[in-house]
Amino acid sequence: MDKRYEILKQCFGYTSFRDGQEELIDAVLSGRDALGIMPTGGGKSLCYQIPALMLDGITLVVSPLISLMKDQVMALKSSGVAAAYINSSLTPAQIELVYRNVELGKYKIIYIAPERLLTTGFLHAVSKVKISMLCVDEAHCISQWGQDFRPSYLRITDFINRLPYRPVVSAFTATATAKVREDIIYRLGLQDAKTVITGFDRPNLRFEVMKPAKKPNTLLELVSARRNKCGIIYCATRKKVEDVCFKLQQAGFAATRYHAGLTDEERRQNQDDFVYDRRSIMVATNAFGMGIDKSNVGFVIHYNMPQSMEAYYQEAGRAGRDGMPADCILLYSASDIRTAKILIENPSEKSMLSPEEQQEVIEHDLARLDQIVDYCQTRRCLRGYILDYFGEVHPDECHNCSNCVKEVSMPAATPAAAPAVAPVSGKNAHLVLACIDNVYQELGRNVSTTLIVRILHQSKDKRIFENSLDHLPHYGALRYLAKEDIYGIMADLREQRLVKYTSDHGIISLTAKGRKELQKKATAARSSANTELPQYADADLLQVLKDLRWQLAQEAGVPAYVVFSNATLQDMAEKAPRDIEEFLQVSGVGQHKAEKYGKVFLQAINDYFN
Ligand code: ADP
Repeated sequence: MDKRYEILKQCFGYTSFRDGQEELIDAVLSGRDALGIMPTGGGKSLCYQIPALMLDGITLVVSPLISLMKDQVMALKSSGVAAAYINSSLTPAQIELVYRNVELGKYKIIYIAPERLLTTGFLHAVSKVKISMLCVDEAHCISQWGQDFRPSYLRITDFINRLPYRPVVSAFTATATAKVREDIIYRLGLQDAKTVITGFDRPNLRFEVMKPAKKPNTLLELVSARRNKCGIIYCATRKKVEDVCFKLQQAGFAATRYHAGLTDEERRQNQDDFVYDRRSIMVATNAFGMGIDKSNVGFVIHYNMPQSMEAYYQEAGRAGRDGMPADCILLYSASDIRTAKILIENPSEKSMLSPEEQQEVIEHDLARLDQIVDYCQTRRCLRGYILDYFGEVHPDECHNCSNCVKEVSMPAATPAAAPAVAPVSGKNAHLVLACIDNVYQELGRNVSTTLIVRILHQSKDKRIFENSLDHLPHYGALRYLAKEDIYGIMADLREQRLVKYTSDHGIISLTAKGRKELQKKATAARSSANTELPQYADADLLQVLKDLRWQLAQEAGVPAYVVFSNATLQDMAEKAPRDIEEFLQVSGVGQHKAEKYGKVFLQAINDYFN
């Protein structure tokens, strides 16, 4: 078998590459520099981890945040890969030990903070080994045109120049405009770099802008309606973080906070509480989040407008990394513009720039501020606006943002939130499935979620009459429900993998599983058997698997996703493997994890069915 695919399956448990991954891996393996621009959750890590395991020497990964390194190393170790990190969270003795192991060639991948690259100890340790690749993660940090410029990133080039030979250099980031892209190539001195830019769109994210009269009340309504989900609330200042966190805690929410004014220890503790699901809401400034690999964030609310579209998309993009539907809501008020201007005009970390350069950066930042103000005020499709900003072609409407779908833009008024994976109420869910199927039979194509909701809700939309859809048996079948509830049913159906949204934004169709579900119902009706079908058994099984994961993660002292991601558990619940062979077929289960967890998970699945 092709070695790349062998590693993909054995270490990471996947059978196919995602968009862009193969091209970047091949470039690096052929000795060529590479620049990968992929959205959050797009799978950048594999692009350097797979070559790292195939190249003969070691791979250094420069990364800006301690938390990211720790997470990545934990995840790699749990997949059986020898990896380590070097940053200020280690004691001098621990760093010494890592250096010794580096010299002994014990690691394939080493994550390192940029500040550490030029230290004598590190230079000495790596002088004894071969560095095959240097990988720069969050590469936009090297550009002063990006929103996260870190002067320490400029040391990377000095480090490369000090080596007796030049390793392959690869760089990755999620957000980069053309200008930042050029700057990355220039500052890192990338040579003939293979540049791969995959789409920026994240179809599972729903964008919304609100202009609330009273932000605190609106925020409480929004989080009440999402009680069983994890979320991040970004505020512009430390003071706001304190206020908002306090109010949420008073209202009974498990909220914690993160900003640069807290001690290192408290920041670490609060971040862990959030990552390990002990607290469900993180209230933070933009200091929080870069590199947080928490895949089950169900919403990101911006209590204040951020300073640029790049910052917004990066922060909002921390929602829904597991591919599940997630909300990105921006609460805008005119006073946000004043706060943003003050923050831009009084930068905290740009001291390495000359006064002229500093002024240029400020002017550039103010121009970017205008853009995000425009986003908050636009009536156009919000997703379209974002994609335009990054220069990507898109349909006129996405049918999944507050401007395209006015009906769902209000916060759900019901405080009783649905459980994270809500058991779909059988009858209504089947009506929705049947309606989607009937419309497809009628028109020979699938239509948007909005149109399905309108048919079920007996709307007078002219598209319904033009296509004679008012003659369908389902026209008005759910008119007694609120439209939000029908959207809710659809979200649940999607979560259960019974329907899917195609890349054409908001077009909904049945999955094979959804079709099977419909057929089961029809067969049951024909045989007029009275026995209830075991509906949505996977949702219950999924819960069993999640509980087991939680228990194992607690025992090992790691975040739940290090054991298995949500997507892996979904696939496991669907495939319901019976033996280790079948267990290995589950997406995200590699050799190492199968050996480690196979037995207990198989036992749980077996118990569930018996
Ligand atoms: P990024 O760094 O681009 O934000 P990650 O590298 O953290 O994204 O990947 C996001 C998720 O996607 C991870 O859970 C990862 O295991 C998963 N993933 C990456 N590549 C693949 C693939 N080829 N097939 C299935 N899942 C993948």
